[in-house]
Amino acid sequence: MTIHANFAAAIGHTPLIRLRNASEATGCEILAKAEFLNPGGSVKDRTALGLVDDAERRGLLRAGGTVVEGTAGNTGIGLALLGASRGYRTVIVMPETQSREKIDALRVTGAEVRLVPAAPYKDPGHYAHVARALAEALNARDPGSAWFANQFDNTANRDWHEVHTGAEIWAQTDGRIDGFVCAAGTGGTLAGVGRALKARRSDIRIALADPCGSALAHFVTHGELHAEGNSISEGIGSSRITANFADAPVDLAWSIPDDESLPLVHDLLHAEGYCVGGSSGVNVAGAIRLARELGPGHTVVTVLCDGGMRYQGKLFNPAFLRGKGLPVPDWLDAAFPG
Ligand code: PMP
Repeated sequence: MTIHANFAAAIGHTPLIRLRNASEATGCEILAKAEFLNPGGSVKDRTALGLVDDAERRGLLRAGGTVVEGTAGNTGIGLALLGASRGYRTVIVMPETQSREKIDALRVTGAEVRLVPAAPYKDPGHYAHVARALAEALNARDPGSAWFANQFDNTANRDWHEVHTGAEIWAQTDGRIDGFVCAAGTGGTLAGVGRALKARRSDIRIALADPCGSALAHFVTHGELHAEGNSISEGIGSSRITANFADAPVDLAWSIPDDESLPLVHDLLHAEGYCVGGSSGVNVAGAIRLARELGPGHTVVTVLCDGGMRYQGKLFNPAFLRGKGLPVPDWLDAAFPG
């Protein structure tokens, strides 16, 4: 029996799950890393640990200090829970458009939560800039008291995924893997896992599944940033090339519309028992596209990033989905009569 000594030790080593319907539909083995099983409920627990461990090692975060971060929510939850375990205060700046469930989850972790209006990255009101400024203000008052985690451009994020997530996937598949695909928010998962797999076998195909409204897929395929449409998926997509994304060895990319990814989220729950968030649907859509590209008999791995209960009021809410013109399965309608 394995006993984990604390929160950090319980992060990672997640199961790899065979997705039955996606596998049967493509004739490939489609496998998913169950990151929603991390102790804070998402793949971003790994990022939180990677960033904090690196800051501690480099003497950037002192005992009892304050961790400041801008986040769509999941990194904040990971940082706040790790902070609770290690004795750090956590201040999280988050766009107010994120799900109520994530905001509430953050508040109960004891983090100080500051909601800001959604703004483009070039606007000084963007949550990442507000977080950096906040850390600087705290340090001006009490030098060394605060540390800005900077998940988008701090490549300790990607490095952790390279050493851990990528190596786990290689070991769990015994190296029998032909492709890996996922969406990018910071790009840490895609770049880290991509680099780990390419280093072990250079012909493994690495693909980006990008939500509509993000500029990354067009950047990979055409060399310039360009976005069209929008998506209800949270935590993924980008209007710029982050330092973490910059070194991702990406071979293929697709822009995935919500009416392709959302039915997969619903099907994963209703037909296979996995309750996951919108980015997981984008990832599985990408895995199906990559499997079709490779042809039957191949093995494709993707990521189930977080749990669906974090988005119940959106992804599993018939009224919300209808308002967005998105399909509502009969069983979901039946679950909320009247
Ligand atoms: N899915 C969800 C739900 C997320 O919160 C994030 C991170 N923002 C991602 C996917 C993307 O992960 P990464 O930052 O490693 O690109």
